[in-house]
Amino acid sequence: MRRDERHSKSAMAIRPARRQTGGLLSVVGEASVPLEGCAVDADRRIRAEARRGYDEAGDTADEGHARRDVDVPHGVVLPNKRHGVSSPVVGFVVALALVGMSFSGSLVAERSHVAGACVAAAQAWRDANARLTQARDLANATLALIGSDDPATGAMGYRDTAGGGPLVATVEKALSDAPAFDASATPCASSSDAAVIAQRTVAIDDGATALNVAVDALIADLEPYRAGTLCTNATTTLTAAVNALNAARSDAQSALDVAGSASDYAATPDGAALIAALQAALTDAQSVSSTAPVCATTDQAGAIDAVTQSVIGATTAIQDATQALNASMVASGKVYTGENGRLDPSTLCHVPYDAKQLLRCDAEAAWMKLNAVYKAEWGEDIPIDLSYRTYDEQVKMREIYGGGAAIPGTSNHGWGTAVDLPDYREGGIGLEWNYGTPKYEWMKANAPAFGWVNPSWAVQDGPGPHEPWHFEYVG
Ligand SMILES: [Zn+2]
Repeated sequence: MRRDERHSKSAMAIRPARRQTGGLLSVVGEASVPLEGCAVDADRRIRAEARRGYDEAGDTADEGHARRDVDVPHGVVLPNKRHGVSSPVVGFVVALALVGMSFSGSLVAERSHVAGACVAAAQAWRDANARLTQARDLANATLALIGSDDPATGAMGYRDTAGGGPLVATVEKALSDAPAFDASATPCASSSDAAVIAQRTVAIDDGATALNVAVDALIADLEPYRAGTLCTNATTTLTAAVNALNAARSDAQSALDVAGSASDYAATPDGAALIAALQAALTDAQSVSSTAPVCATTDQAGAIDAVTQSVIGATTAIQDATQALNASMVASGKVYTGENGRLDPSTLCHVPYDAKQLLRCDAEAAWMKLNAVYKAEWGEDIPIDLSYRTYDEQVKMREIYGGGAAIPGTSNHGWGTAVDLPDYREGGIGLEWNYGTPKYEWMKANAPAFGWVNPSWAVQDGPGPHEPWHFEYVG
């Protein structure tokens, strides 16, 4: 569009020059007018000479014919020697023609000079406008980046920095000071037109330079800031991703341990496939680098983001495989998931003097040491009402006792680390285990030496619930 316009402009620019040239040529024609007086005489002479010539040649042509021939020298055709025009006259006419030719030759040179100047001016004008447009685009893009509220730009808060505020203001000023895009049509028909265009070009180019200087200074300060922000963000994100990966690895290992301990499940086709898939995900994760590369530029922050993405990818793969394995194990009904109340009974230890009681094995070992001391004092084993309680049993307890029972899945009984002595509210033996009874006070005083305690919430002056019968293993 603009090219066509320009084309037509230059066509327009050339046309007046042609007209002018035509004008000058016609002036040359007119310039001959003052010679008219001489020319009239000359004309007469020429006619006379011509007539004579014709006569000498014995030509019978009439005067009209002769006049037509003689009128021609105004045009292109030089007098024909055959017509017998005298040589002084021919010399005069030839000289006149030569002067005209030389004059029009210098006009051609001038015209070519103007055209060259106009072409150069137009090119410089286009270049300057392009520079200005480019500088303005860069300035606007940079300001948009700084004004964005997207943390991914890394430019948030930059404007509030000591250096940032003034640099942004400088660019904004250079933007508003910069000349508008100079798209006006500029006919160029003379050297002075070319000079005017060149002058406008200088103003545009100066605006572009000022804007470039301001934008360059802004970018030079902004980029390290962005790099710092992005590197910090990227490193923080990577750290979180690595932590999540480690947690996923740990969960996966637990799931594999549980699956491996239930040989009948691991032997099923589904179990074998899911275990293999999870092991493969864990192996794949080992090849993922979780080390943050050195970060000093925005590109390097991008490199850290790439590492983070691969860590997240590995984490997701492990989590998905773990979830699939756990779901399958639970659905199989053959596997204990290792959760509170869902421990594999085979991993727990029976209390030797009361085989129906199950405790985590380290807790059971400590209990038996405590029991030995108790037995020496009281001549009996410590009576146990309850120990390990499955999730389903916790649900039932909650249904029966409401707030008096732990929320299912949270009781220490579900971990095999708690014992309830016979409830004092029940008849007989229970009455021996109330606060202040000799056996309770003995247990409260001696059990902690073996890692067993009546928790602070359960003691008589604790916040409750008040459970003198509840002892937990704290190691
Ligand atoms: Zn209890």
